[in-house]
Parts: sequence; C-alpha cells; structure tokens
Amino acid sequence: MRWAVGIGVGWLAVFAILLVIAQVHPSTVLVDVPYLVPIVAAVGLSGAAAWVTRGRTRVAWVLLAISNALWLTGEVVWVYYTYVLQRGPPAVSAADFFYLSSYVVAIPAILVGIGSSGHLRHVRGLLDAGLLALGLGTIGWQVAISPSLPQSPRLADFVAFAYPLFGVAIVTTLAAVGLAGRHRLPAWGVLVGAGFAVAGVTDAVYAYTIAAQNINSNWINVGWQVEAVLFGLAAVAAIRRPEPEARERTRSRDLTAVPLTIAALAAIGLLVADRVDQGPITGGMLVILLALFAGLLSRQLLIIRDRTRLATQLRASLREQERLAITDGLTGVYNRRFFQEMLRIEAERADRTDTPLSVVLLDLDEFKKVNDGYGHPAGDAVLAQIADRIRGSVRASDIVARYGGEEFGCLLPGVNEEVAVEIAEQIRQSISRSEVAVGQGRNVRLTSSLGVATGGTRDSHPLADPDGLVNEADAALYRAKATGRNRVVAAGMLVDPVYADPDLPPGLVWLADRIDAQLSTHEHSTAVSRWSMLVAERLGLDMATLRRVAAAGRLHDIGKVTVADAVLRKALPLTAGEWEQLRRHPDESARLLTDLGGRPDLAAVVAAHHERFDGTGYPRGLAGTGIPIEARIVTVTDAWAAMLADRPYSPPLTVAQARAEIERCRGTQFDPAVADVFLDLVTEGLIGDLAEPARA
Ligand code: GH3
Ligand code: MG
Ligand code: MG
Repeated sequence: MRWAVGIGVGWLAVFAILLVIAQVHPSTVLVDVPYLVPIVAAVGLSGAAAWVTRGRTRVAWVLLAISNALWLTGEVVWVYYTYVLQRGPPAVSAADFFYLSSYVVAIPAILVGIGSSGHLRHVRGLLDAGLLALGLGTIGWQVAISPSLPQSPRLADFVAFAYPLFGVAIVTTLAAVGLAGRHRLPAWGVLVGAGFAVAGVTDAVYAYTIAAQNINSNWINVGWQVEAVLFGLAAVAAIRRPEPEARERTRSRDLTAVPLTIAALAAIGLLVADRVDQGPITGGMLVILLALFAGLLSRQLLIIRDRTRLATQLRASLREQERLAITDGLTGVYNRRFFQEMLRIEAERADRTDTPLSVVLLDLDEFKKVNDGYGHPAGDAVLAQIADRIRGSVRASDIVARYGGEEFGCLLPGVNEEVAVEIAEQIRQSISRSEVAVGQGRNVRLTSSLGVATGGTRDSHPLADPDGLVNEADAALYRAKATGRNRVVAAGMLVDPVYADPDLPPGLVWLADRIDAQLSTHEHSTAVSRWSMLVAERLGLDMATLRRVAAAGRLHDIGKVTVADAVLRKALPLTAGEWEQLRRHPDESARLLTDLGGRPDLAAVVAAHHERFDGTGYPRGLAGTGIPIEARIVTVTDAWAAMLADRPYSPPLTVAQARAEIERCRGTQFDPAVADVFLDLVTEGLIGDLAEPARA
C-alpha cells in the first residue's frame, strides 16, 4: 500500500511539472495524453478489485470499474474530438454523456458497497443519513449549484450544472451512508469517498469557470488527476483486503452530532440566505426547512428515548450489582458480609426499641461425608437445597445468610430466646425430616446442629457488642455438636453433654452411674461433666478439648470401682492403707478408659484430676500447666460437687461456703484462672446446686 501511495503522489508531482512545462512551452498534447494515465490505471485496478473481492464488496467494485471505464470512455471521446477531428468537442457532447453516466453508476456502488452490513438497517441510521443528505444537499445547492444555475437556460448550462449536482449527490450519499452506519468504513470506502469529494469540488470550480466565462485553466485538471489516483489507491486497498469486514465502530466515536450539526447549519443557512437576498421564502425552501426541522426533532426524540432507555438499563444493572454484592452465589441467600452489616443495624434497633434480637447459627453435621461420598458438586447442590429449607422455615423478614462453607446464620429481629429455639427446631426438622437429592437419583439424609443466642431485652444483656451475640450462638452451636449433633442448643441453656455423646463407651457410662448411685451424690458425674464443659467453653477452649473435658468429667471417678465400698463410705480419718487404695482411683480410671473403653486420649486427663496446682496433689505431684487443662477444670467442678453433697465425712456446704472454699484454695489446689471463671459462672447462675435441673 505504501508503494501504491508513493507511486500515486509521485505521479501527481510529475503531472504538476508537466503543467508548468506546458505553460512555458504551450502544448496541449503534453498534458492531455499523460492525463489519461491514472484514469487507465484506475480502470485496470478497479477491474482487478472486482475480480478478487467477494460478496457485496465485489458488486460495489464491479460498478466502480464500470464507472471508471465510462469516465475513461468520456475522456477518449474528448481526445477523439480534440486530436482526430481537430475541432474540440461541442458544448454538449457524447463525452459529457459518459462522464455523467460514470457518476450515475457510482451512486449505487456506494450504496451497495459501503451501505452494506447493517449500515442503514436501523431507524436512527436512516434518519441520520436522511438528515445528512438533506443538510449537505441544501448546503451544496446553496454553495455549489445555485450560483451556476443558468439564468436563461441553454442545454450546455444544464450540463455544466449537472456536474456539481452529481458531485453534491455523491458526496452526500457517501457521507450519509458512511457516517450513519454502525460499522467502520473499510479503507477503500474512505478513499473512494475522498475521490468523489475531490471530484465534486473540482466539478463545482469547473462549473464556476464555465459560468463566469473564464479562461479555462489547465490547473483544474489536477483535481481530476487526484480523483483518479484516489480511485486507484482505493482499488489497491480493496485488493489487499478482499473479504468484506464488519468491524463494529467503537462507541466512543458517536457521530450522531455530525448529521445533526449539518442539518441545523443547513436550516440556518436557508433562513440567513433568505434574509440576505430579501427574497420571499419559496414553497420549495419551506418544504426543505420543515423537513429539516421535522428530522431534527425526530432525531432528538429518539436520542431522548435512547437515553431514557439507557438510564433504565443502568439502574437495573446497578440494582443487580447491588443484589449480587450481598448474595451468596451458590445458595442465593445473603452472604456473610451482609449478615454482619444487618447484625449491626438490627442490634442498634433492638437496643433502641428494647426488643429482643436472636441469632441462630447452623452447621451441617458430618458434611464432609457428603463431599467424600458424592463429590464436591453434589455437596454444592445439597447446600443450595439446605438454604431453601432454612428460608422456608423463617419469616420473609428474617435474614438468612451463608455464614461459612456449610454454615448458615439467621438473624431474627424481635424474637426472644424461647421462640428462637422453636424456630431453630423447625429449621432442624426441615433438614432432618426428608432426604436431600444429590443428583443421579440419589439422596442423603442430613442433620444439622444449631446454636441460638438472644440479646437486646432488659432481662438479657444489652447489644452493645453484637459480635458477642454471634460468639455466644457459636459456642452454643459447639455445645450442640459436642452433645451429639442434630440438636438445638441455646446460649443460656444447660445441656447434659454426656448421655448424648455417642463416642463415650456405654459400659463405662453405666459404671459412672453406678458409682454415683453408690455414693448417692445426685448424679455427681453428670453435673461435673456439665459444669466442666461450661467452664471450658468460657475459657475459649477448642471443640476437641470441650468434648474431652465433658467426657473426663463424666468418667473421672470410674476407678473408684476398685476401692472397697467400706473405704468410700468411711468417715475420716482413713488409715494409711485405705488412703493408699483411694489415691489409686485416678490411675484406675485411666486404666479402665484405656483397657476397656478404648479412649486412651482421656487417660492422662482423668489420671490427673486429683493433682493440685501447687504440686501437692496425687498421684504424681504434677504442678501448674504440667497438669492437663481438662484435669484442672475437673478438679474445681469435682470439688464443688463434693462440697455441696452430703458426704459421709462432712455435711453439705451452702453455696456461699463452697464459694469461700474455692476462693481460699485458688492458686494452691486450683488453677486461679479456672477458679475465677468457675466463680463467674456461679455468680451468673449458670452453675449452682447439684440438684438444679438443666434449664431448657
Ligand atoms: P461436623 O460439622 O458435624 O463436625 O462435621 P463436618 O464434616 O461438617 O465438618 P466441618 O464442619 O468441620 O467441615 C465442613 C466441611 O464442609 C468441609 C468441606 O469439605 C465442606 N464444605 C465447606 N464449604 C463447602 C462448599 O462450598 N461446598 C462443598 N461441597 N463443601 C463444602
Ligand atoms: Mg463447619
Ligand atoms: Mg459441619
């Protein structure tokens, strides 16, 4: 292409030099024969373009080749008149016929080639094209055609006037089709357009010179030479890219303003010209003016409609974006971020209006098995169905969110603990009641554990720290897990952790019950287990530790089965031998757990439940953190249960006396941190008398 441009520009330079020479040494042949060179080249190249291109581009180039050939024929006729007949063409000749027909053929070429691929398919495109045509036509008429309009028309005048008329028509068509379309013009289209634009200007100037009876300057030929060169270049461009290409015009180049401006300018031009000429507005002008105004108005209305539509779409997509930002993609319920946000808002409102606010956290039980058994995608499908079930169990105004992987959170504004537990129970049942599909016709039965926490009313704590509420629900959820899963536990609820724990060896549980009964200490081990769990939870220990501490509390005394009944029931003091027997029971408990219970993980804990923080305990004299934390907890809860019970060697203490005793031994017998937490729980009423039933 660069070569072709070089040759074209080079040729124009040569032609200019020839013109200069012809001025110095007047000669017509010197100009007139070389003049044909680029036209012949354009005919050849456009023929080649018609040969190689495809589709509508080919149709356009066939027409353009014909157009160029007609032009060349016109030139040949002109040469024939000038050099063969030696008398020059008459004012109106066959040459004019060919020139003008070349224009006539060019217009469909433009419409077919450039107007293809959706350029004019839309109302807006058509309207823009119409406005542009009308505007440019009006301006062209006023600037180029009207001045050359014959006063007393002769045929020659009409012919001279036909050239700029066609020029304007072609440029208008080109601009309308090119600008109004939705696709970018191909390079050849731009070049052909430029060629016709140059031709139009040259023809207009020529018409002026004819009308003004001026001396016909040779320099005007440069215009038509440029036109021929541009046509040649256009053909080369088409040959280089023969497939029609439809590249979307980039939206940043919205050219709607162009037709609107031109149409407006044309209208203004008409009005101003009318004023300047002082002439009346003719009927024709009025029609054109009205058409221009109607076109402008319609286009404006379309623009307004487009803009309104766009604004509506933007608003909708914004709303959709907002929805997506707060939605969990997998399950369609809210995401954790939104849950946290609403938690803050609802907590504030609950505080302000003195209404309760409940949080329910749910974790699916043994969900890993679903993934392991059916694959992760099946797990995902299950999560979506579970989310639906949860949604179906709460009010529409409650917030359901995916809190973590297979954890969900519900925010229940205005709901007290009692009702929240009921709702949680409904959720639990909705999940466990029927099987969930995992695809390929297979189903699984799932259960869930739920933790409930309520705040916001005067009788419970204020909601200054909404995260605390979630933490409480979380701890309750852990207790639900630890006490056998598939259950609802509320933060304020005392649950019996042991009967439900399926991992405890039933034989040893039976043994623990037997020893409790033998010592008639009001289900001593159950209480120790429950309290130990509460303490561990308050200390922020992890799930595994919570479960160990609950189990150790329940089974710590089973070794007493090896101690003679008489010794257990005997009032103090014991003999040295009896002491020896009694001091062995922690190790015996450990041995039973290892040998019979299959729970060696609990051995070290139960073995240490009579160690003292200051290292003076038995059987090993461990001290401080050398004693497992579970054992340090059981030491306190076990002592508390013993103090409150009616023992053979001492009457029961009151709660206040037992408190004082724990305080007295804080740091010697008991881990001070454990003792403090324990006494806090006593103060809060969560740990009390042995006989006190679990609150539920
Ligand atoms: P449990 O809660 O009863 O103690 O047992 P679990 O098997 O449910 O154990 P845990 O809650 O600790 O593990 C959750 C599992 O859930 C881990 C992971 O494989 C699975 N999970 C978490 N997020 C997704 C998820 O988006 N899609 C799927 N398919 N699985 C998930
Ligand atoms: Mg989980
Ligand atoms: Mg789970």
